[in-house]
Parts: sequence; structure tokens; C-alpha cells
Amino acid sequence: MNSSKGIAYCQGQYMPVDEAVIPILDPAFTKSDVVFDAISAWDGAFFKLDDHMARFQRSCEYIRVKPPHSDEEMRTIMAECVRRSGMDHAVVFILCTRGRFAGGVAFGHPKDAENGFIAYSVPYYWIVPKERIGTGAHIWIADTRRAPDVAINQRVKNFNRMDLTRAQFEASDAGADAPVLLSTDGFVTEGPGFNVWIIRDGKVLTPGENLLEGITRQCVFELCAEAGLQAEAVNMTEADLRDAGEVFISSTGGGVIAVTVINDKPVGNGAPGLTTGKLGDMYWKKRSEGWDATALDDLLEPEIAQAAGD
Ligand code: PLP
Repeated sequence: MNSSKGIAYCQGQYMPVDEAVIPILDPAFTKSDVVFDAISAWDGAFFKLDDHMARFQRSCEYIRVKPPHSDEEMRTIMAECVRRSGMDHAVVFILCTRGRFAGGVAFGHPKDAENGFIAYSVPYYWIVPKERIGTGAHIWIADTRRAPDVAINQRVKNFNRMDLTRAQFEASDAGADAPVLLSTDGFVTEGPGFNVWIIRDGKVLTPGENLLEGITRQCVFELCAEAGLQAEAVNMTEADLRDAGEVFISSTGGGVIAVTVINDKPVGNGAPGLTTGKLGDMYWKKRSEGWDATALDDLLEPEIAQAAGD
């Protein structure tokens, strides 16, 4: 099995990730009727697995799907995807799809569908080009607005992403790495795959509405508490973002990443900020020390874990 691009568990079987498909009659495809989560697996352990699983279950409950596996079975499948892909640094995606209607028909009420579970492990990714990790990312404040929570609850990790995708084109057309979207009432929300932070008057601030509450965002709150920094969720305007002394983004794909250019202007003096650097260093140091790590071997079936260790 070619595992170089990753391994999926789909329709009850393990397979190379580029062979895994969703049937076109699954509303996951036709209606984006699916929720997901993305968890990093680094040097043989998942990071913050319990938090990701809890968020996934909340997402499932919100759209009223039920994975056809227990929590424990899903964890084993996820670990098995990483093991079979042979990757030291991976991200595992888990999806609960609405699934096919009984009898294989094309239409029906969502309550009558048979929900599906898909997992796949792919190489670890950085939410902005990796070379920007040291120098800082260039973000673009998009004209496209983030769909509001009252329409699509962004705390639910969803694939309804027309807004984020359109904004990505706006950013790339402008030569930026990634967009940040404002809400319909003009406040900063988030970008595709990341939360946004500013540092103002010594306080570490992030928006609180119309966004996914990232697990890395939660990590930043933990790191700030440890470092004695005051951190808060607040409404912030485009001007707050542009005028901040430091700006950074947080994501499973890269941890804490400095932002050094917003639209056409440098942030502060144009170099990654000192507090941002400190939080980023703390994030990776604590991860290397086993911060909220769950060993893959503890999740694999005992005989598989033993064989993998041989
Ligand atoms: N916001 C959106 C829209 C996302 O898709 C993601 C992650 O993929 C994030 C924020 C960051 O969340 P996390 O820190 O859990 O990766």
C-alpha cells in the first residue's frame, strides 16, 4: 500500500488516502452535511486528543449525526492511520458524514441517513508557507465577510467554507499568505485554519465570536496564564488589528505564528514580536516535554502496538 501521501479509514477499510472517496449521494458531498476535526500526531503521540474528541462530539451533536463507532474505537482507528502511514509528524482528520439514505436513494430527510465515519492521516502541514514561520506571515483583511454564528455556528467545525475560500483568493491575488475575515458587523473573526491575536498595552487579545474556538487558541490562553500574561477574548475592529504592536495567529498547523505584514503595512517594526516569540517557543518546548500527549501505542490494539514496536 502506498502510504507516502497518507492513509485513510473509509467505508470500513484502510486505504491510501488518495483512493478514499465519498459517494456523491452522501449529503456530506452534496450539502456539506458533515463535521470534522484535525489533530496533530507528533513523534508517536497525539496532542490534546481529549479536547479534540470533545469538540468533535459537540460538532456531531449540533448537526445531529452520530459516528458509527465508539470514542475508543475512533481513537484506535486514528492511531492506526498514523501507524500505517509511517509518519512522525502528521495531522489526522476525522469526519462524521450524514451518510447515504436507506435503499441508496438520492433524496430523503437527514434523520433517515446512515451516518459514516472517515479518518485519514496526512503529513503535518503549516497553515502558512513554512518559510514564514521564522519571518512572520503576511495576512490580508478580506472584503468577504465571515458567515455569522446565527446562520452557521462557527464553533462547530464545518466545511461550509465559501466565505473562507473566496477570501483565500482575495489574499493570494494581493500576494498575501492568508486572509483574515471580518464579521458582518465589522469585527475581526478568523482565517481559514487559524485564530487571530493581537497584543495591545501588554494584553493578549483574541476575538470571541463568529469563529471556531481553536484548540491552539485554548493553548495560548494556557500559555499566557503560565507566563503571567493577561489574555482575553474581546471584540476587535480592523483598526485594532492594523494598529497592534504585535499580531499572531494560532493553529494546529504550526502553533503560534507571527504576523509581520497586514495588507501593505508592516506590523510594529516589521519583525516578529517578542511576546509572540516567547509564546511560540513555550508552545513547542511544552509539546516536546509531552504536554497533553497521548501515545499512539496506548491506543493501538495491543498485538498491533507490539508488532509496530518490533
Ligand atoms: N478557525 C478555523 C476556521 C479552523 O478551521 C481552524 C483549524 O483548522 C482554526 C480556527 C484553528 O483551530 P485549531 O487550533 O484547533 O487548529
